[in-house]
Amino acid sequence: MASHPATPPDAQVRVNLAHLSPAQADGLACVVCGADYLTVKVPHLPIGRSRTGSQIFVCSTTCLAPGGAA
Ligand SMILES: [Zn+2]
Repeated sequence: MASHPATPPDAQVRVNLAHLSPAQADGLACVVCGADYLTVKVPHLPIGRSRTGSQIFVCSTTCLAPGGAA
């Protein structure tokens, strides 16, 4: 029984966790474009966790590239 990480199947976002801002690492801002979710109302999806264990997010419409947007 391995615990399965909740990763969206289409998430193709590479994030350098070492380079996140505090807001990004706390899940308060997009880890791709840096949009502040407290002030910018955009749909966003969790893509994993930062090194602090907080969920991190990307904008689901603009920053998440579903499969093969190269
Ligand atoms: Zn974004």
